Amino acid sequence: MTSNKHSIIIAIDGPAGSGKSTTARLVAQRLGFIYVDTGAMYRAVTLAWLREEKPEIDIFLNNLPDISLSRDSETQEQKTLLDGVDVSNAIRTSEVTEQVSYISSLKKVREKMVSLQRNIGIDHNVVMDGRDIGTAVFPNADVKIFMIADLKKRASRRLEEIQSKGIHQVPSLDELIQQMKDRDAFDSSREIDPLKMADDALLLDTSNLSIEDQATFIIDKVKSIIL
Ligand code: C5P
Repeated sequence: MTSNKHSIIIAIDGPAGSGKSTTARLVAQRLGFIYVDTGAMYRAVTLAWLREEKPEIDIFLNNLPDISLSRDSETQEQKTLLDGVDVSNAIRTSEVTEQVSYISSLKKVREKMVSLQRNIGIDHNVVMDGRDIGTAVFPNADVKIFMIADLKKRASRRLEEIQSKGIHQVPSLDELIQQMKDRDAFDSSREIDPLKMADDALLLDTSNLSIEDQATFIIDKVKSIIL
């Protein structure tokens, strides 16, 4: 199943820290669409595995945790729930970041998350960001963007994001650069739905663009297809 024609789907993919989430959130706000951060869902599964103290992977896969999303009633910000409990902050630790590529490479995990993601698109206009949204989750998305940016810029942005969230363990810039390199390499080379630009996606290099420029670029594309 692909995107329902009554909903508008904007798919934003790209490597870690390329500016996807900030831009996607702003685009969704301006268009009155729902913003879905799919990385948060894979992070929540990873958090469950870590909290269970890394059980044998087959045992874990046979009883995957319940992941769901809710919205803050005022800000509409996504809340990521693990077994009904809000883990939006707990999923941002470096421990989760180090393991998330492994957990998200597993077939059963991807099948479950992709199915949840497609369900959201059935009756909502969405801006969804991730690694495989334009290639696997919604191959018929109305607008597909693939965001890239210089590695050092991406790491600096991620550092600012971590600091702004008040997370205790703050990694150094060099650690972040290495982590991002490793994670992107793993995500791009996995067997199932790797990080890859869809043939019909628009490439957006955000190295020297402001969030405002990025949002305007995407909103203009959306307007050109709906008007
Ligand atoms: O977007 P974020 O950096 O939080 O994503 C964390 C990880 O989740 C990625 O590095 C990737 O391994 C996985 N992911 C994925 N597919 C998506 C979104 C994220 O495999 N659609």
